[in-house]
Amino acid sequence: MTGAGAKPTGEARKTASFGRADLVIRNGLILPMTSMGEFFTGDVVIDDGRIVAVPTGSFDGAANLEIDAAGAAVLPGFVQAHVHVVQSLLRHQADGLELLDWLRRRTLPYEAALDGDGVEAAAELGITELLTGGTTCALDFGTTHNHDRVFRAAERLGIRIVSGKTHMDRGGDAPEALIEDTELSLAEAEGLGSRWHGAADGRLQYAVAPRFALSCSAEMLQGCAALARRRGWLLQSHASENRDEVREVRAMSGLGNIEFLRRHQLLGADVVLAHGVHLEPDEITLLAKTGTTICHCPGTNLKLASGIADIVRLRQEGVRVVLGADGPPCNNRLSMFHEMQLAATLPGLTHGPTVVGAWHALEMATRIGAEALGLSAEIGTLEVGKRADLQVVDLNHWSGLPGGDPASRLVFGCSPQAVRDVVVDGRLVVSRGRLQSASEDDLRLRIAEAWKATLHRMEEAV
Ligand SMILES: [Zn+2]
Repeated sequence: MTGAGAKPTGEARKTASFGRADLVIRNGLILPMTSMGEFFTGDVVIDDGRIVAVPTGSFDGAANLEIDAAGAAVLPGFVQAHVHVVQSLLRHQADGLELLDWLRRRTLPYEAALDGDGVEAAAELGITELLTGGTTCALDFGTTHNHDRVFRAAERLGIRIVSGKTHMDRGGDAPEALIEDTELSLAEAEGLGSRWHGAADGRLQYAVAPRFALSCSAEMLQGCAALARRRGWLLQSHASENRDEVREVRAMSGLGNIEFLRRHQLLGADVVLAHGVHLEPDEITLLAKTGTTICHCPGTNLKLASGIADIVRLRQEGVRVVLGADGPPCNNRLSMFHEMQLAATLPGLTHGPTVVGAWHALEMATRIGAEALGLSAEIGTLEVGKRADLQVVDLNHWSGLPGGDPASRLVFGCSPQAVRDVVVDGRLVVSRGRLQSASEDDLRLRIAEAWKATLHRMEEAV
């Protein structure tokens, strides 16, 4: 079966004649995400970490491991362009607050109370949730300290991650333990990037991460921009999420948030800004002109009552828009299915129901996400030669039936629980919904212990 508008894509669709492969996924409903609306029944053949064939028919060779994907969709792994795995231990304990109170009363005290074991256990929880929900790659924000432990967790569990410690050297009522010396903070980031950027055969990468305009001095913001550009690393930050935040940036600088970031060299094709909910027309123009990406986080924006980003307007004006779940304490889940459903439905309130469809949401969650992270040559689509980062999603559960457009079934009918198998770099990291790269029972124990110890330290600090 081939979807409407499908075009043969030459090599990517050839009927394979290949020797013994490492892994073959057979008889799935394949959505390669190379063009909108394209799907067909076929196999995906993987060898040495890469996709070596995506035949429309049956692969005629043998493989060391075979997965039967009959009744399931096979698509690229999701790319979440804004998460904070390190915040995972605070999940369900920071509800009912708006952004600045959420930060000052709960999230910053929590981050201050995290020790190295807490950072690693939180990262393991966040990464496990991402992987088992079909997210194979994430752009991630750390806390100020112990960021080696995030990379260690990512290295072990098998996710592809672009991550960096957060920077903050000002911010009034933030806990003292989080306020850094500007130069030491920048030197620490450079050390982390030197150790981890390109590690695990390129699966781990570094991104410089100033928290937001209100938590960094001008020296810190400019230092972050200079460091990232000198080393060729990505930049990530938050912008224009909440009205009070925008007001405080203006009171501090006399400028709109986006113009403020521009003056500190924090716009560009190598920058991903989370949110972009409250933007003036000239700010949208500036984002488009500089090629800056906005990561839309609708689940968090609704839960913190921040507002709804106008992604239709942003896309029309030429701004690249991608998706992310943000932090576990402000969403409270890291589900790309949840974000896709919201991204495809919320614009209907102002622009009508058809303006962002299920295929658009899937595209933002895969191919465009990879582009924003500078990784489109390696991931984001199912094509010969790309890294094998993909997921097998069961469509035979009740809300996936009886049939219809596969993008609609995935975006509006599925949840992370439908994700069956997940492959990163050719390695099967989730099989039949279970994490393969660590013992789930041991992980639950580590999470419970780290949560208890962190809460205890938070209570002591009050
Ligand atoms: Zn965030």
